[in-house]
Amino acid sequence: MYPPQFDHETAESAEHAVELLETNDDRDVKVLAGGHSLIPMMKTGLATPDLLIDISRLSELSGIERTDDGFEIGATTNYAPVAKSDELHDEATAFAEAAENIGDRQVRNRGTVGGNIAHADPASDLPAALLAHGGSVTITGSDGDRTVDADEFFYGMYETDVGPAELVTSITVPAHGPNAVSTYEKDRSPASGYAIVGVAVVLEADDGTIVDAAVTANGAMDRPSRLSAVEEALEGSEATEAAVEAAAERAGESLNTAMMMSDQDASPEFREQKLKVYSKRALTRAVSQL
Ligand SMILES: Cc1cc2nc3c(=O)[nH]c(=O)nc-3n(C[C@H](O)[C@H](O)[C@H](O)COP(=O)(O)OP(=O)(O)OC[C@H]3O[C@@H](n4cnc5c(N)ncnc54)[C@H](O)[C@@H]3O)c2cc1C
Repeated sequence: MYPPQFDHETAESAEHAVELLETNDDRDVKVLAGGHSLIPMMKTGLATPDLLIDISRLSELSGIERTDDGFEIGATTNYAPVAKSDELHDEATAFAEAAENIGDRQVRNRGTVGGNIAHADPASDLPAALLAHGGSVTITGSDGDRTVDADEFFYGMYETDVGPAELVTSITVPAHGPNAVSTYEKDRSPASGYAIVGVAVVLEADDGTIVDAAVTANGAMDRPSRLSAVEEALEGSEATEAAVEAAAERAGESLNTAMMMSDQDASPEFREQKLKVYSKRALTRAVSQL
């Protein structure tokens, strides 16, 4: 299906993109990044913008920079370089593994980190990994930049803290220290490749005891969610396979199962079971590396 006619403007800078968003605030405007969610939505009539502001070629927003405490990843950075980065695999493993698990090669070469986060599809892979790492999102508007923690960025299905005349310009992913490891495990929809559920884990241990645990999930709820009951069970427990298996059993406890996602891939009850299984897989792999 062809989308209805629309105008297209190429942004020359992030500032120019924000200017275009502001001056066209009376129109249905969408930012175009990798186009791998927006264009299918336009083709199926789910989105009918009359103006696209194209940021896909903005090199100023592309790249992975090692900072003092982690990584700053530009919004138009494609998934492929994230998935291939040795530094990210070593120091922010769950995030790199989440990128590695997105779609297929074509999607990873075209889709962007900023688009994945801004689009906030519940089944996307990067949001839970960003949350588990304690990351944040930098948003730019006419008043300049502001930074929002991942915990506060996602409001619900396709809803975030980004305002109508704002742009996600980068995300920050903290690196984990020498006593920490992280993993991402995903149950992939056989039809779309998206996560039926995905679980991201960051564990820190001291002398065989887990001192800090972040366990988060994609695909289960309308936004990336923290599996707090699992985190609580892990903190202070021994870093053993038996301990993480017992903790994983509590994966559904802190979520409102009545609000769990339900679609052709899995019912809420099946998703809850899958959450336990994929939490166990992610945690077992993590403790084996501690
Ligand atoms: C076949 C297929 C398989 C896929 N499988 C997966 C998968 O397994 N896992 C997964 O996570 N995703 C998957 N995706 C989706 C893909 O990751 C998309 O790239 C992603 O959801 C959106 O990123 P984008 O750069 O393509 O954004 P676009 O499609 O260009 O934009 C999506 C939305 O975000 C907005 N937006 C984009 N960039 C910004 C920005 N910088 N600031 C503010 N708003 C912005 C746009 O206005 C639009 O509303 C798949 C897509 C396809 C087509």
